[in-house]
Amino acid sequence: STQEKTPQICVVGSGPAGFYTAQHLLKHPQAHVDIYEKQPVPFGLVRFGVAPDHPEVKNVINTFTQTAHSGRCAFWGNVEVGRDVTVPELQEAYHAVVLSYGAEDHRALEIPGEELPGVCSARAFVGWYNGLPENQELEPDLSCDTAVILGQGNVALDVARILLTPPEHLERTDITKAALGVLRQSRVKTVWLVGRRGPLQVAFTIKDKIKEVPRPRKRLTELLLRTATEKPGPAEAARQASASRAWGLRFFRSPQQVLPSPDGRRAAGVRLAVTRLEGVDEATRAVPTGDMEDLPCGLVLSSIGYKSRPVDPSVPFDSKLGVIPNVEGRVMDVPGLYCSGWVKRGPTGVIATTMTDSFLTGQMLLQDLKAGLLPSGPRPGYAAIQALLSSRGVRPVSFSDWEKLDAEEVARGQGTGKPREKLVDPQEMLRLLGH
Ligand code: FAD
Repeated sequence: STQEKTPQICVVGSGPAGFYTAQHLLKHPQAHVDIYEKQPVPFGLVRFGVAPDHPEVKNVINTFTQTAHSGRCAFWGNVEVGRDVTVPELQEAYHAVVLSYGAEDHRALEIPGEELPGVCSARAFVGWYNGLPENQELEPDLSCDTAVILGQGNVALDVARILLTPPEHLERTDITKAALGVLRQSRVKTVWLVGRRGPLQVAFTIKDKIKEVPRPRKRLTELLLRTATEKPGPAEAARQASASRAWGLRFFRSPQQVLPSPDGRRAAGVRLAVTRLEGVDEATRAVPTGDMEDLPCGLVLSSIGYKSRPVDPSVPFDSKLGVIPNVEGRVMDVPGLYCSGWVKRGPTGVIATTMTDSFLTGQMLLQDLKAGLLPSGPRPGYAAIQALLSSRGVRPVSFSDWEKLDAEEVARGQGTGKPREKLVDPQEMLRLLGH
């Protein structure tokens, strides 16, 4: 049948999950894969999440670019699924649809004072320094001397490092010019990372897991563990005493309230409940002892996790777990619909984990195709979607368009020794492309 000859498949989202799923699907000798992305630019959190001082992590972009260069793969940026085109419309146009749209939200603290100026999510802060368009207005106030990060995972560590790294060490990274400017004026000297549990439970330690952690993260984690658990020698103690910036971990503390300044206008501290551990192993829980501690600070960054959003009312969504219910990437009760990455597993795990789970989803889809479980007969694929988008005034950005933007960013970085100066305004990007 034609379906066996040219399966038309689309993937929603162009982060690691989208690109690795596409890479696996292209193993089928005829399959055509379209990748839809809401941003005008590809690569998801590899561009907008991974810290600017970890450039080696971004090498995966080379692999994704190879995939995009396949004659049977196309990238369509500037297309928001759920707004510009619906999932049922995609299901009509394609033999199969894979949802790989990540986790675009953050978990709220749900404590009083959370809405005060001076409080923001680590997610927004990361988006700000990495040039995510929606976070460019954040303008974090770094005029205080103490910042508190609620959470002790990898994202919390990235944020702490960016706050504490001397700005001159970030000058040759792809951090945005605007963020670098604000960091240069920063008066933040002390950063506390607050966690409910103890050193052996924090998300970034789990000592026996350290072997599996990617190398750069592993080095950092080992360093952090050593710093947190070992007493410094005399030379190190002297160096620390004279250091202009410092950080520390506060274990067994659970945030109760963001404390307002006397005029009530902004955050001035965090009230923490002291906790202790109860139970053993997996069942360990942090329970309050009844003691409270107030930690004064001018900036509160909540880093307790990302969260996926439902994309379309027609797609099942588990709002408690924040994932699309699925069995090995097959969306429950919806034949022809699949998912991969953070929206499938939840917002944890590194790029390598995302790769493994995306290959698995790709494998399930190809199995279903072979077994004749997907719709038979030809499907129009992009031709149908293009018509819909154009009738709605949406101009997609192709991969070669992205390569023009990429070249522009690299050129803008050159004078200052940066690998690139990111374009942060979608309107400017579209203008540069003549859209
Ligand atoms: P994402 O990368 O988020 O990709 C989802 C894509 O879908 C995005 O491009 C988004 O714009 C798009 N999208 C969303 N909604 C729609 C829609 N409605 N229509 C169309 N497109 C849509 N891992 C490492 O290995 N090393 C690191 O150093 C590292 N650092 C990290 C730092 C941070 C701050 C974070 C948050 C994560 C980090 N990770 C790191 C983890 C890694 O980024 C994730 O494992 C991976 O990005 C998850 O891939 P994904 O494709 O599921 O999600």
